[in-house]
Amino acid sequence: MPPPPILQVAINVPLSRRFDYLAPAGQSVAIGSRVLVPFGRRDQVGLVLGLADRSEVPGNKLKAAKAVLDPTPLLSKEDLWLCQFCSDYYHHPIGEVVAAALPKLLRMGKPVYPEMDFLRATEAAETAIAGLRRAPKQAELLTALLDAGGDGLSAETLTELMPAWRRVAKPLIEKGLARRERYTAEDRQPARDLEAVAGPALNEQQLDAVAAVRAAKGFESFLINGVTGSGKTEVYLHLIADVLDRGQQVLVLVPEIGLTPQLVNRFRRRLGVEPVLMHSALNDSERLAGWRMARSGDAKLIVGTRSAVFVPLQRPGLIIVDEEHDGSLKQQEGFRYSARDLAIVRASRADIPVVLGSATPTLEMLKHCADGRYKRLDLAVRAGGAEPPSLRLVDLSRSPGQDGLSDVLLSAVSRHLVEGGQVLMFLNRRGFAPTLICGDCGHIAECRRCDARMTVHAREGLLRCHHCGASRPIDRQCNDCGAEAMRALGEGTQKLEDILTAQFPGREIRRIDSDSVQRKGAIGEALERATAGDADILVGTQMLSKGHHFPKLTLVGVINADQGLFGTDFRSSERLGQSIVQVAGRAGREERRGEVLIQTAFPENPFWDQLLDGGYDRIAAEAMHEREQAHWPPFARLALIRASAHRQSDALRFLEAAKRLAVEAAEERLRVLGPVDAPMAKRAGRFRAQLLLQAHDRQALHHCLSQLRLRLEAHPEARKVRWSIDVDPVELL
Ligand code: ADP
Ligand code: ZN
Repeated sequence: MPPPPILQVAINVPLSRRFDYLAPAGQSVAIGSRVLVPFGRRDQVGLVLGLADRSEVPGNKLKAAKAVLDPTPLLSKEDLWLCQFCSDYYHHPIGEVVAAALPKLLRMGKPVYPEMDFLRATEAAETAIAGLRRAPKQAELLTALLDAGGDGLSAETLTELMPAWRRVAKPLIEKGLARRERYTAEDRQPARDLEAVAGPALNEQQLDAVAAVRAAKGFESFLINGVTGSGKTEVYLHLIADVLDRGQQVLVLVPEIGLTPQLVNRFRRRLGVEPVLMHSALNDSERLAGWRMARSGDAKLIVGTRSAVFVPLQRPGLIIVDEEHDGSLKQQEGFRYSARDLAIVRASRADIPVVLGSATPTLEMLKHCADGRYKRLDLAVRAGGAEPPSLRLVDLSRSPGQDGLSDVLLSAVSRHLVEGGQVLMFLNRRGFAPTLICGDCGHIAECRRCDARMTVHAREGLLRCHHCGASRPIDRQCNDCGAEAMRALGEGTQKLEDILTAQFPGREIRRIDSDSVQRKGAIGEALERATAGDADILVGTQMLSKGHHFPKLTLVGVINADQGLFGTDFRSSERLGQSIVQVAGRAGREERRGEVLIQTAFPENPFWDQLLDGGYDRIAAEAMHEREQAHWPPFARLALIRASAHRQSDALRFLEAAKRLAVEAAEERLRVLGPVDAPMAKRAGRFRAQLLLQAHDRQALHHCLSQLRLRLEAHPEARKVRWSIDVDPVELL
């Protein structure tokens, strides 16, 4: 019997439906393979989701696929299941989900095992290199090739190393010192196993945690609630070693900034395997190579950021999500998903354990534990005997100091430096100053495209908008009254760096924020040096607060936490608690006890009492109580429908239509709130508004959304706006 001839294809467009095509004449096509199909005026790469006998498209309109791109399925049944799950759960078009799950080269239709151009050194190179002194570029290139050894370097890597390498390579090839080769990616072998180095003997709580996970038969969710420095990573290492011994694969998800050389080295050294990394700094073929090795099972340990949650696994044995509270695990644009939640879904489907770790777990996870759905494993003390840091408030009204730095904090910095400690100054505001204000009339420089102030970047002489990226030279005159009285107000990390440099001459001060580490790999290097202790004072943003281990660090100064006290989002206090506890956790991780000074102008705010008295547990407990009263998550389910347009009225009109449809489709258990302007009503020249759906349970929400999505796609008002559905939003922005 011939196979059913109609292909149901997912295409990367913002429409929920599948598209029907005929198989190319005489060819059979497997589910999970890519095909090239005519779509509109162009050809598109699509993925075959299903085969059918019949189509609703009339026979004479049905087009044939032009080519089959994969002789065998690219995605397995399990991978397709995950894509379909995402599409259903997040109410997102399947074609865009599939696109998000695939490395870019595959999305573009390239083969899984491409042929690649390589350049390698010949045998003659070793001795000839000394003769290249007069041609430094050639010498540089040849040295790189010699260092690489083996197959040499791929064209793509060379382009990153030396954009003009082709011109430089020519004379080398002519002299017989280098040779071009073409390899199929398949030829490349994964690194062989190394010797594993033993770690410290686990303490009792760590042993209990390991034993609990080991005892899991199939799927079970664990939350390792371990204070900073309690040895969570050690627990992961033991669990991973087990699974690798059984010949299964482990997937570890980490926050964007958590994937540092420090962590990778630790995995490599302790486990004796080369982790396959998946993160945003990889080039396209590196990314594809990792994907391929995960799929084939050659990759034993895969460590990646958010999007790695989609990587195909041949023999999954364990999934770990480190720092589960971290915001970067949630994709915030396009196809909005939570990598943490999907990790749990995958583990459940594969019937394997999943381990989430945090010193500051989200209320969602804490509630799951309280409800008995997840098992909570506490690591209450710091491993290796380090004491928890001491936290203290500095009342800015009593100790004002200058330029945002209190005398109390300054003298603490001196003391710690004299005693040989390292200091971290935490300020979650990059740039020189957050505000440029006119001293005469009080006018504040704003972004022309956003409802936001421009940040002063004094080093470049620019005002920058941190929301849309717009920049312009610093205004000399006030745009309002014309006075030449513009001055910077408040402190950003650049200014803090300047102030500290002036205060502590001769001390090494290093700023680490997204401005200072833009170059690829720079963040890793900066952290490496910070770890080695060669800077006396580290100045930085959130980037410095996450998971890092700076052995010499003894003092943390929190410069301005007050912005977080008055946040409008219902998660504000949870977030502030997480951010302070995380950064505080960098202090005193070895012999010397850490000290944390938190500057505030509102010492009487109850938040501080809770934090200093009961730590994150208490903050979480208070927040849990408030959320229950107010029916916010985790006691309710939310979805946010966002719309933006050049005209405010278009965005609102679309959401009004959405609201009517939602109310029609809704059951009693659903509340529809809005539409209202987004907290930042204008951004990058577009007006933004939102509609919030709040439900007691998931079914009510999903029932409503599934009807809503299809109707909105067809709605005439939808043409004037960009819109999206965000299920389980983490920010109501
Ligand atoms: P976390 O992941 O919770 O921040 P780590 O696993 O990185 O903690 O451990 C923090 C520090 O304590 C590391 O230097 C680690 O080597 C050390 N450590 C962890 N467990 C133990 C232990 N049982 N005995 C001694 N040192 C330990
Ligand atoms: Zn802007």
